[in-house]
Amino acid sequence: MCRHLAYLGSPVPLERFLLGLPHALAVQAWAPRDMRGGGTVNADGFGAGWFPPGATVPVRYRSAMPIWSDAALPALAAATTSGALLAAIRSATVGMPVVETAAAPFTDGHWLFSHNGVVKGWPGSLAGLAGELPIEDLLTLDAPTDSAALFALVRARLRAGWPAAKAVTTVLAEVTAAAPGSRLNLLLTDGTQIVASTLGHSLHVLAGPDAVLVASEPLDDDPAWQPVPDGHLLVATPGALDLTPLGAA
Ligand code: GLN
Repeated sequence: MCRHLAYLGSPVPLERFLLGLPHALAVQAWAPRDMRGGGTVNADGFGAGWFPPGATVPVRYRSAMPIWSDAALPALAAATTSGALLAAIRSATVGMPVVETAAAPFTDGHWLFSHNGVVKGWPGSLAGLAGELPIEDLLTLDAPTDSAALFALVRARLRAGWPAAKAVTTVLAEVTAAAPGSRLNLLLTDGTQIVASTLGHSLHVLAGPDAVLVASEPLDDDPAWQPVPDGHLLVATPGALDLTPLGAA
């Protein structure tokens, strides 16, 4: 399954997380360590969304190619510095298309979103929930995938003014009820906070006084990486980390 990460802190080159660190996304793409039965490699595309210093709307770069095969990426990632970003590599679920627009992050305004997992029984199991969305939202899905549909559900709640954590926990509860057994590791940021869930897949956090990094797998062997237990909601800003069991979130 996919691997994703989000970072908030002082500006650093994207290269660090995508390519530079010992277990950066470019390594996790072909040698992930903790896929929990959800695939083998993450070679069906990648993407990164980042806030340039001072910007409130992110820039996004996505591709349907494996992250290691993009010849432009090393120079681009080395020259691009940001203190707020979300990046992902994709292992397409069987039956879902391998196209650029199915790669995370999905965006809306200042939001960046990624999903690691699968909605069991998709698309039928999500039909009821999707049917509650405005038709225009369904006509503007990025791709015919479970992840894009999940983003539409989260996006509708964010547009209605819900706090990010509530938008995520509500979608988790409703999708789990409609599609039991789904794996739903969601990751959402607006550049000021990170909201993430663990439901079926791995997640780790490296939290310091001035920065926070959340990733499916630790990016290096820093002993300060903490695993996030399954069934939790993580809400983090630089210097503040909150983990809550999902039932209580
Ligand atoms: N089901 C999603 C997709 O196909 C996410 C896959 C994943 O986590 N590997 O894009």
